Amino acid sequence: MNPPPDTARYDLPETDEFTRPYWDAAAEGRLLLRRCADCGRAHHYPREFCPFCWAGEDRVTWETASGRATLYTWSVIHRNDLPPFGTRVPYAAAVVDLAEGPRMMTEVVDCEPADLRIGMRLEVTFREAADGVAVAVFRPARTA
Ligand SMILES: [Zn+2]
Repeated sequence: MNPPPDTARYDLPETDEFTRPYWDAAAEGRLLLRRCADCGRAHHYPREFCPFCWAGEDRVTWETASGRATLYTWSVIHRNDLPPFGTRVPYAAAVVDLAEGPRMMTEVVDCEPADLRIGMRLEVTFREAADGVAVAVFRPARTA
């Protein structure tokens, strides 16, 4: 007897009260960052406290990012056994530098792997991962 098909998915967020604004905005096509009112720096992934000066949650707020980034590094993935990633190979797992400063783990889409270049300009776009769930990914910038 065969085991039941693996219906688990490893690409969906586990949202909680703190991260819900981030995912709600993503579903609307907006990338949110957290910015500290004390030191002025933005960070990502979202944390309640500022990771630079440790200002408390009352000093750190959400803001909409420009969506502009440059490619810091990447790796083209040819095999991934975790569903649903195996259906997407090859894909470009990437780290990008957001225009606001934070470095973000993501994926570059709409670009042939051979065309990827360190420092290339990117812009955010969103993949609908499930009904009402969108994940920020990046593509080559189309605007100046
Ligand atoms: Zn700070």
